[in-house]
Amino acid sequence: MCLNSQSSLAEDTQIKPCDFDYLKIIGKGSFGKVLLARHKETTKYYAVKVLQKKIILKKKEQKHIMAERSVLMKNIKHPFLVGLHYSFQTTDKLYFVLDYVNGGELFYHLQRERIFLEPRARFYAAEIASALGYLHSLHIVYRDLKPENILLDSQGHIVLTDFGLCKEGLEPNGTTTTFCGTPEYLAPEVLQKQAYDRTVDWWCLGSVLYEMLYGLPPFYSRNTAEMYNNILHKAPVLKPNVSNAGRDLLEGLLQKDRTKRLGGKDDFLELKCHSFFSPINWEDLMAKKITPPFVPSVSGPTDLRHFDPEFTHLPVSSSLCTDTLTVTSSVKEAAGAFPGFSYGDEGQILS
Ligand code: AMP
Repeated sequence: MCLNSQSSLAEDTQIKPCDFDYLKIIGKGSFGKVLLARHKETTKYYAVKVLQKKIILKKKEQKHIMAERSVLMKNIKHPFLVGLHYSFQTTDKLYFVLDYVNGGELFYHLQRERIFLEPRARFYAAEIASALGYLHSLHIVYRDLKPENILLDSQGHIVLTDFGLCKEGLEPNGTTTTFCGTPEYLAPEVLQKQAYDRTVDWWCLGSVLYEMLYGLPPFYSRNTAEMYNNILHKAPVLKPNVSNAGRDLLEGLLQKDRTKRLGGKDDFLELKCHSFFSPINWEDLMAKKITPPFVPSVSGPTDLRHFDPEFTHLPVSSSLCTDTLTVTSSVKEAAGAFPGFSYGDEGQILS
C-alpha cells in the first residue's frame, strides 16, 4: 500500500470522476457505495468510495467522514492499511480513490469456514496488531475493528479499510468519550460511556481473535441487552480447544478494566512479546515475508467472487461520471478541499 508513489497518475493532474470507468458495486457503507473502477488512461484498478453529501449532512456525520479523509491523507504508509490515491468531490458527492483489495472480507472467509486454525488466526492477528500499533504510534485510535473492515489482498495479507471511525490526536494516555462502534465488539468502557483510550483497539482485536478461534464473538447473544450485560459483567468463555497461550492472550485483551488490559502500558510491544506470537518473526511479517496461510482464489482484478452478489448485481449509476461542477483536489492538498464540510481545526472536527 502506498499513497502516491505507487500511482502512475501524474500528481499534478486534476483528477475527476469521468477519468474512471465504474465497473461494479462491491460494497456499501452507511454513507454510500464502494465501486470497482478502472482509470481510463492507465487502465489501473481502484476501489472508489462514493459518499453522498446529503446523507452525511442528514446524519450529522461530517466529523467522521472528515476524520476518515484526514486520517487517509496523513500519508499513512503501512503494509496492512489501505492506501488513498486521490480524493475529489462534486456538488453532491465525495470520492475517495483507494487501493483495490479483492481477496474478500475476512468475515466472508470466516463465515464459510466457521473457525480458523490457530496458526492462521495468529497470522491475521499479528498483521492486524502491527497495523493498530502503527496507528497508535501516530496517535490514531482505529476504534471500529470488526471482520467487515478487515480485507484480504489477492496474496492473503490483511488490509484494514474504513477509517470512518478513527479518532485522531489521542496522546498515549489521552481519552475520549464519543459513543460509537459495533455492538458485538463494544468494549465495556465504551458501552458505559466512560472515557476510553487506545486500549479499546486491543479489546476489539481480542474480540476478532476470539471469533476467529471459536466461531462467534466472545459475549455474543441474540438478545442485545443480554450481550451488553455479558460484555460488562461476564468473563469470556475460553474452552480448552484453544492453546494455553491463545487463551491467555484472549484473557489479557478481553480484560474489562482497560488499565489492566494487555497493551495498557507499552501498547503493541506487550502484544509482540506475548507467547502466543512467539512463532512470529515481526520483521519478516512487516516485510510480507511470511507466506500467508491461505491464498484467496482470484483470477484477476475483475474476478469478483469474493464480493457479495447482493452488491455486485446492482446496476452502476450513470450519475457517477459527472464532470460538471467538479471540484477536484489531489490527495496532497491540505485541509479545505471539501468547502461544504468546513474543517476548522482538527479538534473541532473530531471532538
Ligand atoms: P466501508 O464503507 O469502508 O465500510 O466499505 C464497505 C464495503 O466495501 C467493505 O466492507 C468492503 O467489502 C468494500 N470495500 C471497502 N474498501 C474497499 C477496498 N479498498 N477494496 C475493496 N473493497 C472495499
